[in-house]
Amino acid sequence: MAEIPYVRLNADYGEIRADVIAAVDRVFGKGDFILGEAVERFEQAAARPCGVAHVVALNSGTDALILGMKALGIGPGDEVITQPNSFVASAAAIVHIGATPVFADVLPDQNIDPDQVAAAVTPRTKAIMAVHLTGRCAQMDRLRAIADRHRVLLIEDAAQAFGSKYRGVDAGALGDLGCFSAHPLKNLNAAGDGGFATTNDAAVAERIRRLRNHGLVDRNTVSEWGYASRLDTLQAEVLLIRLQGLSSVIERRRANAARYQGLLASAPVFCPPDRPEEFNTFHTFVIQVDRRDELRTHLLENKIGAAIHYPVPLHLQPAAAHLGYKAGAFPVTERQAQRILSLPIHQHLAEADIVRVAECISAFYGAARS
Ligand SMILES: *Cc1c(COP(=O)(O)O)cnc(C)c1O
Repeated sequence: MAEIPYVRLNADYGEIRADVIAAVDRVFGKGDFILGEAVERFEQAAARPCGVAHVVALNSGTDALILGMKALGIGPGDEVITQPNSFVASAAAIVHIGATPVFADVLPDQNIDPDQVAAAVTPRTKAIMAVHLTGRCAQMDRLRAIADRHRVLLIEDAAQAFGSKYRGVDAGALGDLGCFSAHPLKNLNAAGDGGFATTNDAAVAERIRRLRNHGLVDRNTVSEWGYASRLDTLQAEVLLIRLQGLSSVIERRRANAARYQGLLASAPVFCPPDRPEEFNTFHTFVIQVDRRDELRTHLLENKIGAAIHYPVPLHLQPAAAHLGYKAGAFPVTERQAQRILSLPIHQHLAEADIVRVAECISAFYGAARS
């Protein structure tokens, strides 16, 4: 029985090897290691699929959140509303700029619930940060209406959603700031850490550019205390190579998801249905099931990798104790944390792999019923 791993990050090296080696040669040949010419080319190339005027390349998606929110003037005394079921970086970035994360519960599709957001707004709210979890966009039209009504900013944590769309608008162009990660596990992935911020506001882009390079406005003048958060030239070269193949990666992942949805239709498995207003890029394919841990063990015994994103909600993490939330505060998130399982969805799966995963799941529940 062949293994079906959760990811296969080396599987396409053969395809891109010549381009990677040429890029390494270019970068070393020029000695142009940080913020080189390829970084600017990447920023320009990424602006179109994100539907924005400005892309600023950074060290990570986490830094896109931190520097982006700083550039928007968010800081101590401000509250930022976000969801408790995200990757830790969403909340950590809010804490690192001196603001307070305020959590709002999520919908069955794992994205933030606009009604819960509206209920969480206070006079100190400065921004709403929606995470496009799994690659599916949050309900940005309703969130925009809430943000406008309360005159607060709308931020996209789009780390999992490069290429996704909502009502025809690209992730990254749906808020006042878009934050993307190019971590190796993301659909658009570097050969290490990387990230970028998107905005249509030239002044915000300029300030992020300054913050990423120590706050320097010229060689010897520091306008504000900044950071070392520049994208390596080599990573920009890798991202330019990846961008060329990205639409086929996304199509493969979408086709894999559609296959799973068909094959699992009669199994006791909840997959959030695709809505016509969404274009989902399936960073992850998450099912919600009873007896999740037993199912995961069963899959692993059958050499099928499966992951949990994420098993411990942020408000229940030890680091969040100072925020004062208790178990039970976010029932939808907490129930999902017991039930979610991410199946292999990567672009290197064969159709037979997906059939085997689906059959393995159906057999698990079929056996349980008899
Ligand atoms: C990956 C991720 C981040 C952080 O990105 P890094 O590049 O790893 O810093 C932030 N938010 C979400 C939702 C993510 O999935």
